[in-house]
Amino acid sequence: MAYVNGFLDELKNISDGIRVLADEPMDGHTTFKVGGPADYFVVPDSVQSVVDVIRLCKKTGTPCFVIGRGSNLLVTDKGYRGVIVCIYDTLDDVKTEFAGKSDDSDDEYAIITAGAGIMLSKLAKTAAQSELTGLEFAGGIPGTLGGAVAMNAGAYGGEIKDCIQSAVVVDDEQNVITLTKEQLELGYRESIVKQKGYIVLSATFKLKKGDAAQIIATMNDFNARRRDKQPLEHPSAGSTFKRPEGMFAGKLIQDSGLAGYRVGGACVSDKHCGFVVNDNGGSAADIMQVIKDVQRTVKDKFDVELEPEVRIIGEQ
Ligand SMILES: Cc1cc2nc3c(=O)[nH]c(=O)nc-3n(C[C@H](O)[C@H](O)[C@H](O)COP(=O)(O)OP(=O)(O)OC[C@H]3O[C@@H](n4cnc5c(N)ncnc54)[C@H](O)[C@@H]3O)c2cc1C
Repeated sequence: MAYVNGFLDELKNISDGIRVLADEPMDGHTTFKVGGPADYFVVPDSVQSVVDVIRLCKKTGTPCFVIGRGSNLLVTDKGYRGVIVCIYDTLDDVKTEFAGKSDDSDDEYAIITAGAGIMLSKLAKTAAQSELTGLEFAGGIPGTLGGAVAMNAGAYGGEIKDCIQSAVVVDDEQNVITLTKEQLELGYRESIVKQKGYIVLSATFKLKKGDAAQIIATMNDFNARRRDKQPLEHPSAGSTFKRPEGMFAGKLIQDSGLAGYRVGGACVSDKHCGFVVNDNGGSAADIMQVIKDVQRTVKDKFDVELEPEVRIIGEQ
């Protein structure tokens, strides 16, 4: 792809602390451990530098895509033509303020605000250490807060929607605005952020004071259940498909006889059929072929269209 003259210099000059890598392989930035090079891989060091990178991309007509930890992401083997903006290992401050009691109850609350780049596990641990309940479900989700808001991440009956108050985002005209929980339009693995390509900079949660021992016990229980049921020993992006209404993707795949179904180095996990895993040095093409074959077989057997939960980006 052709870049406007001086594009790279302008990118690097956005701030002193910005990190800009050219032709950066994406296999090191996704939990599937696949993906060819991004033309430019950028880690901004401040809110302003996020805005400036997006402005530069818009001004020059350069495609750009924001990622966090890459734990719900499949990048093609040819890689991404444009700029990947990575908000992970940056913008990860967290602040807790005790807010006292609500008008309508005797429960004590606190407000936690964290940068989009914080890992959810760290945020959940911070809440637990402050004896705050509500984020236990998030302790084992291996992504950033930004990705979790975009995806309305959830597990074990909890989801971001249940406890978020608001998020600060960059909108499609590069304004930094605050969206309330309602304005975030959070649904099953959906949000206005994902639909409109907004960028999450930070988010605020209202959490109730709880019992520290109970919070830790719940988190430990969820983690044990993950280790027991999920193929955590192999690279994956978690559940590959969304749950079809009233059904479980993993069960449909298992009942289609696809446990262990393999293309090259990727297969349907036989520990949990909802996970496609890269258990033997597979390529993105292998993973995509498994996904397509699973979709076709489940459609043929059960007339159900499985929609990938995993975001797929890059040159085909
Ligand atoms: C082993 C395993 C278990 C998992 N278990 C669960 C689970 O129980 N529940 C669950 O919901 N998910 C689960 N996931 C999927 C994944 O961890 C979550 O969806 C997570 O929230 C994604 O965060 P991320 O930072 O990795 O986002 P990425 O994968 O980097 O990106 C995912 C999407 O979020 C967008 N995004 C990322 N950061 C931002 C930002 N700052 N602003 C705007 N958009 C952004 C991207 O553009 C992309 O559309 C699991 C994944 C793995 C590998």
